Amino acid sequence: MSNFDITIIGSGPGGYVAAIRCAQLGMKTAIIEKYNTLGGTCLNVGCIPSKALLDSSEHFHNATHSFKEHGIDAKEVKANIKQMIKRKNDVVSQTCDGVKFLMDKNDITVYTGVGSIVDKNTVKVVGSDKKEISIQTKNILLATGSKPNFFPGMEPDKKRIITSTEALNLAEIPKKMLVIGGGVIGLELGSVFNRLGTQVDVVEFAPTITPGMDKTMTKELTKVLKKSGFKLHLQHKVLNVKNTGKGVQLTALNKKNEEVVMEADYCLVAVGRKPYTEGLGLENVGLSTNDKGQIEVNGNLQTSIPNIFAIGDVIKGAMLAHKAEEEGVYVAEFLAGQKPHINYNLIPGVIYTWPEVASVGKTEDELIAEGKEIKVGAFPIKALGRARASMDIMGTVKIIADKETDEVLGVHMIAPRAADLIMEAVVAMEYRASAEDIARICHPHPTYSEAVKEAAMAATEDRAMHI
Ligand code: FAD
Ligand code: NAD
Repeated sequence: MSNFDITIIGSGPGGYVAAIRCAQLGMKTAIIEKYNTLGGTCLNVGCIPSKALLDSSEHFHNATHSFKEHGIDAKEVKANIKQMIKRKNDVVSQTCDGVKFLMDKNDITVYTGVGSIVDKNTVKVVGSDKKEISIQTKNILLATGSKPNFFPGMEPDKKRIITSTEALNLAEIPKKMLVIGGGVIGLELGSVFNRLGTQVDVVEFAPTITPGMDKTMTKELTKVLKKSGFKLHLQHKVLNVKNTGKGVQLTALNKKNEEVVMEADYCLVAVGRKPYTEGLGLENVGLSTNDKGQIEVNGNLQTSIPNIFAIGDVIKGAMLAHKAEEEGVYVAEFLAGQKPHINYNLIPGVIYTWPEVASVGKTEDELIAEGKEIKVGAFPIKALGRARASMDIMGTVKIIADKETDEVLGVHMIAPRAADLIMEAVVAMEYRASAEDIARICHPHPTYSEAVKEAAMAATEDRAMHI
């Protein structure tokens, strides 16, 4: 029987990052993963493979749409989905191998099998050969992540009615794809296939795509997607989806309550994800999940059993890899007696469409609902010299600041490489900068980052210059 300071169940970005930090802080650390590769949803079937396919499909789209105007004649450009998937698989396996390397480097013991709690100091691992290993541990960290969600009538059969996992492995480019859910997954994976020539129809229950996002961004993103050929069926209630053998048939009620039938080759179900706690043995220590399926934790990420912690997608909050990572580090440092801190208001969110969408802090609607007096500055991407040079002219940057103090309260943008641009706003907000602070920082020319400076100037005294 092995003895550990901490045993982590789940090797996603929450679990493996926690393991590294615990080991760095001198704890004898074990990590358990039920799959043969480490890295969880993010590395195997989430962030990394989706971005690999987004990049490949973006190259194809540029080759077929903008090369000519740039003066590049590329004849007979074809998308080879099998090679795209192969490259994506290579990226995934290199990245997962990297996590295994980091575990070895930090002397972290890796167990492959399903982990479950036996009692508050004992964890059991059952391997695929059904052999059981018992581990004694001072602390337990639950980092078991999430799985795709679905509602009655849209149960994925994983053949024609698929989740993101199957969409990342399609062997053909569909002529038409239905996507249920106009959220992050639907729009990112929808973008992959849209760029490869698939007609993508999004069926969304809410009156807008990406509900909850700042309304200026929703409006701008809707424009971008429609321009690139997406069809958006908003306020549609899906009644059922059927696999017809060669394709799918979806029946929904539109906002007039009329029945509409849509057909396609595949239907991607992307209506959110649910926390994953199956077989975890929570009941053995008197723990349970809330009505959202999440494990409840306090401000120190402790469950009601003080030596059992939980982080990442399996608890409340944004289902994001970087949020899970911060929580992993928090638990390690808390156990080491340090005083870690996470500012949940400053966890940036990104949608990897093109242009990308990124935001941090509060939306305009949230601030108005809180009764805050605010001022807003915005700057269109098309007014940048850099944007015209690259022919990427769609998008806008919006900065919301406190009317009296000028403190930046929210930054929202649709812009080329917004995923990277948003970090300026995160840093500024972490240090509680004012819009004027950002406006007075020298930004390199010509870059997309000048839009952030201009939006800050617009928020300060309506003094944007290049518009
Ligand atoms: P997970 O990554 O889900 O890892 C949990 C691990 O625990 C899994 O490997 C699972 O097998 C294992 N496990 C579960 N139960 C047991 C058990 N009993 N025993 C042993 N092992 C167990 N987020 C971003 O921030 N940026 C992105 O670009 C992004 N893109 C995404 C794209 C897609 C298509 C998807 C599906 C998700 C994406 N996400 C993205 C979300 C991100 O993947 C998750 O928020 C993140 O992986 C959560 O990390 P986690 O460590 O909590 O759990
Ligand atoms: P989501 O919550 O982003 O979007 C789900 C969408 O489905 C919403 O627009 C919702 O209104 C809609 N919906 C819900 N029920 C519906 C129904 N019955 N019919 C039609 N539409 C319905 O969820 P997701 O896109 O599945 O992504 C899951 C999680 O994964 C997200 O929380 C996200 O944070 C994470 N993720 C992040 C990234 C990223 O950071 N770039 C990428 C992919 C996934």
